[in-house]
Amino acid sequence: MAPIVLSISHDVKNRIGFRTEKSRQGGTAMETRKRHRQKEDYQLRTHMIHGNFDSKNWDYDHHVVPPVSHTTAYRLSSLERGARGFVNFASADERLSGHIPIYIYDRLDEPTRSMLEENLAYAHGGDICVTFATGMAAISAALGAALRQGQEVLSHEIIYGCTYSLMTNWLPRNGVKVRFANFLNPGTLGEKITPETRVLYFETPINPTLELIDIAAIRRAADKANARRDEKDKVLVIVDNTFATPFCQKPLRLGADLVVESLTKGLGGFGTDMGGAVVAPKEWYGSLMLYRKDFGGVLSPQSAWGVLVYGLPTLATRMINMQKTAQRVAEFLASHPKVESVSYPGLKSFAQKALARRQMFTSNGTFAPGSMMYFVLKGAKSKHTRAEKMVDYLAKYAYCVTLAVSLGQIKTLIEHPWSMTHSALPDSQKRAFGMHPEGIRLSMGLEDWHDIIRDLELALEKV
Ligand SMILES: *Cc1c(COP(=O)(O)O)cnc(C)c1O
Repeated sequence: MAPIVLSISHDVKNRIGFRTEKSRQGGTAMETRKRHRQKEDYQLRTHMIHGNFDSKNWDYDHHVVPPVSHTTAYRLSSLERGARGFVNFASADERLSGHIPIYIYDRLDEPTRSMLEENLAYAHGGDICVTFATGMAAISAALGAALRQGQEVLSHEIIYGCTYSLMTNWLPRNGVKVRFANFLNPGTLGEKITPETRVLYFETPINPTLELIDIAAIRRAADKANARRDEKDKVLVIVDNTFATPFCQKPLRLGADLVVESLTKGLGGFGTDMGGAVVAPKEWYGSLMLYRKDFGGVLSPQSAWGVLVYGLPTLATRMINMQKTAQRVAEFLASHPKVESVSYPGLKSFAQKALARRQMFTSNGTFAPGSMMYFVLKGAKSKHTRAEKMVDYLAKYAYCVTLAVSLGQIKTLIEHPWSMTHSALPDSQKRAFGMHPEGIRLSMGLEDWHDIIRDLELALEKV
């Protein structure tokens, strides 16, 4: 029997690669302990709570909650170990080998972040994950790693405002062309793909209208173009999965090459920290890690820890409850005489109901329409729209519906996209993209659903 060596320093030593009493005796307790079920036999929801407590990134077999590490540099016990750390950095094979990593410097790699990355990759069914300081840093890295000068991004025409700015203001400076097309008609995409097209980029559900883009159909368009291309020029499908989270949608399983996600929203879940992630096949690990090292947008260990111990473990529970509330709120709004239309993938009246069921589901196949909705009020004849009045009334008087940007938090958030998040777009373009001045975006929280409906009902009475 392996001797029990229990001290805090044991874990720390084991993590950074000292050969401990236990490892000399033939592996960690986890390796010698026989499990009565394979880990993969447990539901994703259970996985997100436990993660890998025998993680090679940090063996916390003797903790209940994974620890957070704060050190910018790592003590190297020999020159040989230091040299090996540099050689192994950014190697996917090394990362996935099961060897205990050699950490050198926070910006290169760090254990708390690594534990989160293991769990996020698992949640998406991807090989690897690389996290970043924000969602935008993750999107910049995915595009930066994928694109060379002379190549082109073909993007859906409605995307997150800062992603649009990145594509129109910054990528062209590096000689990357950007064109926009309507991905809601994937059948017409083939003719828009040119020999320069390297990336097909979109979000689904779309912000703010909650329309869906068919990930598998975009994959088919990419495959058709790729039949005549070399590996290095293949068209890549990159999906921003922020609205759905991996609980509701796993784009890699539906044909995406890379997934980008803001951890600031539903994955973080509590509105306390920013973060972003790219999940991808292992071939992408090296370039994403080098990009992060050199551009420097690393996720801080403290922020990673929050997502690891609060965000991911509660994701399923939060989503399940938010979806129940969202369904009730959407049905309430749809039946209200002052409401023109409601766009929520869970509604019977949702225009893309069949597609919603094809691509938004949990690991065990349950339909998962998410926690976001968009609704349009019947117009009022006055200077301000009814939507502006309603949002303003809620901001001033409601207790449980908060006027704020961002989404996916435990608090219900409301905003008016026409005058706020999408105000930079010309009105004609907003209309062409399906937005309406009377449209309101709602991000469901965890409050009692009666309270949310009552706040909305009182506001609707006043406008
Ligand atoms: C918020 C958001 C982002 C950017 O994430 P940050 O963490 O704020 O940088 C990207 N895409 C979508 C769809 C978002 O909602």
